[in-house]
Amino acid sequence: MQTLIAHWIGGKQAPSESGRTSPVFNPATGEQTASVGLASAAEVDAAVAVAKEAARDWRTASLSKRAAILFEFRELLHRRQTELAAIVTSEHGKVLADALGEVARGLENVEFATGLPQLLKGGFSEQASTDVDVYSIRQPLGVVAGITPFNFPAMVPLWMCANAIAAGNAFILKPSEKDPSASLFLAQMWKDAGLPDGVFNVVQGDKEAVDRLLTHPDIAAVSFVGSTPIARYIYETGTAHGKRVQALGGAKNHMLVLPDADIDMAADAAVSAAYGAAGERCMAISVAVAVGDVGDRLVDAIAARLPKLTIGNGADPDTDMGPLITAEHRDKVAGYIAAGAEAGARVVVDGREAELPEAGFFLGTTLLDNVTTEMSVYADEIFGPVLAVVRADTYEAGLEVINSNPYANGVAIFTRDGGTARRFQFDVEVGMVGVNVPIPVPVAYYSFGGWKASLFGDQHMYGPEGINFYTRGKVVTSRWPDPADSMVDLGFPRTR
Ligand code: NAD
Repeated sequence: MQTLIAHWIGGKQAPSESGRTSPVFNPATGEQTASVGLASAAEVDAAVAVAKEAARDWRTASLSKRAAILFEFRELLHRRQTELAAIVTSEHGKVLADALGEVARGLENVEFATGLPQLLKGGFSEQASTDVDVYSIRQPLGVVAGITPFNFPAMVPLWMCANAIAAGNAFILKPSEKDPSASLFLAQMWKDAGLPDGVFNVVQGDKEAVDRLLTHPDIAAVSFVGSTPIARYIYETGTAHGKRVQALGGAKNHMLVLPDADIDMAADAAVSAAYGAAGERCMAISVAVAVGDVGDRLVDAIAARLPKLTIGNGADPDTDMGPLITAEHRDKVAGYIAAGAEAGARVVVDGREAELPEAGFFLGTTLLDNVTTEMSVYADEIFGPVLAVVRADTYEAGLEVINSNPYANGVAIFTRDGGTARRFQFDVEVGMVGVNVPIPVPVAYYSFGGWKASLFGDQHMYGPEGINFYTRGKVVTSRWPDPADSMVDLGFPRTR
């Protein structure tokens, strides 16, 4: 019988009783390996009730006790990172080294959160008025939810839950139904680290579970990472129900290559950033904007590298690129290649013609040249191993292409000219910028987030803004007067 992947509520697995399930595949073999139960609204309600109860006690836990649990969780995650990476590879398909990289970036977020006594410090002003002190404190929100995408089943939940829990909240994770097992592994580790039951919970599910989280009166805040249409929906629905929401959306990340760039370095970077994880990264480079006469040299250098990539099962250490997440998604990406060719793009390398393993959801690498901004291969987020090259005569024309795009998650410039790089960083309307760095994911002590259609909400994810998101400020004005001085004064309080 097929395994039914369960929820995790109140410190233990809770099998779904809704009767609705979704299949989970190993994308490298095409086999269904399990089913995941999809929560009903009543199952979400049960998880929220448990979390609400747990949040009441958890916020009273001392900062040092919380920090000790986070340190323990960090140790377990570090020790068991290969097991977690193997789970990610088996359900997502990315190669093991990449899955380990994802866990490592998640681990950095846990390490950041271990500094919670420092992060949650407030301010204090003695003698703000005569004999009056003023101080600020940050308090947890209560029960918060995280809704996460398929492409980082370990890292994105860790972006959210480490800071949320450190700040004193109870957390409910609604992972992607496509690769749900990593969530239960994290849940077990939180328990083993000593986290009280009910502080970290997992509700497996789809739109039904999400909609209940968005409308439930006891959910104070929702963090979301996923595609732009759903991010917009989450933001609008969550805020309409009085919740604090940060909703990170999709991307179309450009790499601007100037004529003075080191071509080999730029080509290496383009190949790594476009085809790593089969392009299923929100920070993948999907467009190279080649400025001036650099285009032919860049296209040749990228094309020369592609036949050397080994495509296969991500669990095999010799594999460079694994499959896509589902057969439907692979077919959708292939459809974009056809549409690009039809619209007049030059297909330099065609992933549909690659020699690929027979089973599994594989597609080869594709390189398209002479792409223009009205083509669907440019306008849409493809989320597959497809790199489009757009030609631009000048730096200004290249910048205009980037700044006109509705997405604005990540961007990179490749040049040897520090002045131009500085100007680019100033001019470009994108949230995360790389200078000769193709995937500029900020380290855990900065915050992660794009602009425009790549993020709805005011607070970026993790880092200092993550702590702000999961707490609310309170300011206390305090006086310990001598009762002998007491009097009625109807005037507005003034500092004296
Ligand atoms: P998705 O939007 O389909 O799903 C994300 C989450 O929303 C999942 O948990 C899913 O169950 C839920 N969901 C899906 N449809 C829903 C609906 N109609 N109503 C309510 N909830 C719904 O995204 P995905 O395919 O899992 O992930 C890939 C997308 O995520 C890409 O667009 C990628 O760019 C984006 N992403 C963005 C970032 C970022 O930081 N900006 C990071 C990773 C992924």
